[in-house]
Amino acid sequence: MDFSVSEKMQTIIGMINEFVDKELIPMEAEYLSHDFLEMLPVIREKQEMVKKMELWAPNFPAELGGMGLSLLEHGLVSEALGRSPLGHFTFWCQAPDAGNVEILHMFGNDEQKETYLKPLIQGKIRSCFSMTEVDMPGSNPVMLETTAVKDGDDYVINGHKWYTTAADGAEFAIVMAVTNPEAHTYLQASMIIVPTKTPGFNLVRNIPVMGHSGSDYASHAEILYQSCRVPQKNLLGPEGHGFAIAQERLGPGRIHHCMRWLGICKRAFDLMCYRANERVIHPDGSTLGSRQIVRQWIADSAAEIEAARLMTLNAAWQIDNVGAKAARDHISMIKYLVANTMNRVVDRALQVHGGLGMTDDTVLAYFFRHERAARIYDGADEVHKMSLAKRILKTYEGKVVK
Ligand SMILES: Cc1cc2nc3c(=O)[nH]c(=O)nc-3n(C[C@H](O)[C@H](O)[C@H](O)COP(=O)(O)OP(=O)(O)OC[C@H]3O[C@@H](n4cnc5c(N)ncnc54)[C@H](O)[C@@H]3O)c2cc1C
Repeated sequence: MDFSVSEKMQTIIGMINEFVDKELIPMEAEYLSHDFLEMLPVIREKQEMVKKMELWAPNFPAELGGMGLSLLEHGLVSEALGRSPLGHFTFWCQAPDAGNVEILHMFGNDEQKETYLKPLIQGKIRSCFSMTEVDMPGSNPVMLETTAVKDGDDYVINGHKWYTTAADGAEFAIVMAVTNPEAHTYLQASMIIVPTKTPGFNLVRNIPVMGHSGSDYASHAEILYQSCRVPQKNLLGPEGHGFAIAQERLGPGRIHHCMRWLGICKRAFDLMCYRANERVIHPDGSTLGSRQIVRQWIADSAAEIEAARLMTLNAAWQIDNVGAKAARDHISMIKYLVANTMNRVVDRALQVHGGLGMTDDTVLAYFFRHERAARIYDGADEVHKMSLAKRILKTYEGKVVK
């Protein structure tokens, strides 16, 4: 395996880093103190600049208007963009749209691609992914309660979902619902495309998360599907294949997340080191950085980030070369390892900033609030650890080790 960065990618990453530094980081102070919708017009201006630079939709297929980067290449892009909370949305490779593009591209029929995928890649519409339910454990999705029952040419959907990220203002949701309750457990659910203007798609509220309800793209909705009727042609992929399609969505998505989190690590680490050198804490002029405990945080963070980064690049390489299924141990490991690395690094950086770290005068408090969730979504830490350990133990069954 080879993680050397091609000349093409070095140029692209250089352009992105410059854009993040010059165009996005200066906008952050306003972003942190304003509603997302208020910021949208100026973000749209930045998106036009990105299109002109031909850096739009880096991970989406080239034939559909994206840059068509490989997973490993896009990982590097995601890391550079992750340094700012505005990065992924401005370059149009944000979750949950990125995952939806992937499954629409792989499983959508021609009509679905024309109606939903094309405008989604062009940035004309947004989407959301509606799987987690209020009353059922998201960690065990086979316990879904939402149903889609055939009636004439339609499906009639009933269910209570939440954490449907970015549903507010989205054009359509990809909804996971039980279509075949009598089938084998893993063949009971399907993915169905539901335009959000469909009667019965009822957005109850944007859930307050760590004190913020947010709006539009920057929100997480609770949704009641109440006799929500859509044509059967809105089925995405084969009926009963919802879980298989979800797996396709999650593998590469975890690389995107992990590399974004490594971008956050980099930003928090830079801020921590800068502050450690600048902050004088004694009349003799000594700085925070002269203290052993701060140096230990810096040394630990540097090593942990490097280890997490190499593991993530390796997982991306494995997916690109042997496929997501064969790479699942690597994917599980990085999901919890990188999420926890990021949480520790952000926490240390915030601590080094003292009271300033708790304010929105730096981006650290934003990262602290928003990124705690990394240990929960796309499989909580414990779920990944349980299934990884189970697979590892299986390989030892019947073996004698001395
Ligand atoms: C910010 C954010 C955005 C999200 N966006 C989306 C989205 O766009 N679409 C969507 O459908 N969902 C989304 N989710 C939901 C997310 O996928 C679920 O929260 C997650 O799957 C966990 O499900 P749960 O909340 O029901 O927790 P539960 O399943 O109830 O689990 C609670 C806790 O129990 C523990 N646990 C669970 N199972 C096990 C086990 N087998 N062994 C040991 N411990 C276990 C874990 O610590 C876990 O955190 C989002 C969540 C957050 C926080």
